[in-house]
Amino acid sequence: AGIGSQKDRVVTEEEWLRKWEMGNTGFHKEQGHPLLQKYLDVLLNGRSGLRIFFPLCGKAVEMKWLADMGHSVVGVEVSEQALKEFFAEHSLPYCEEPVPEISGAKKLQSTSGNISLYCCSIYDLSSSIVGKFDGVWDRGALVAVNPCDRQRYVSLMITLMEKNSSYLLVTVSYDPNKHKGPPFYVPESEIKSLFG
Ligand code: SAH
Repeated sequence: AGIGSQKDRVVTEEEWLRKWEMGNTGFHKEQGHPLLQKYLDVLLNGRSGLRIFFPLCGKAVEMKWLADMGHSVVGVEVSEQALKEFFAEHSLPYCEEPVPEISGAKKLQSTSGNISLYCCSIYDLSSSIVGKFDGVWDRGALVAVNPCDRQRYVSLMITLMEKNSSYLLVTVSYDPNKHKGPPFYVPESEIKSLFG
């Protein structure tokens, strides 16, 4: 056990899909995350009409919050079930279309146009497909990425950020000897070296 063995742990896409099928989604917060409310001003920094990215979005209700505030929300999630549940649970009509640049991927977009959710792996995205973002809400994303993919994930995220963007990151602090993850334990020192 321990941080040493978490380093080699891999959760496959199929395992994530199965968690959604089984309803094994304890990470989902029906009420949304209090830390987004607390640090909303840091994310927005006085700006309006932002493009906000939700990596590994699940059916995070914070996407609805930010869209309701007039921002434009883009998410990415491998589970189509999660995305459909998101739209259904908020009674939001949406349309589906293929993403020409990514084979097998779909984009689910609210009819109002301000929420676009990509059903594919985050590693399939690039700024030429989704553009760049003014803000990122990373909760259950960096900590859900397989430890061996962390550098790749962070490097990609950096390419998706505009110059003056804000990045809110939520991590979990616990003894990695007692839990195999996810969520994985990502020490502060590693966050500093990953993001530079
Ligand atoms: N951020 C969400 C969900 C956290 S759980 C929240 O706060 O509730 C992590 C999510 O990432 C799961 O829904 C899982 O299906 C998805 N996921 C895992 N690997 C992924 C990948 N490579 N690309 C996109 N989504 C992924």
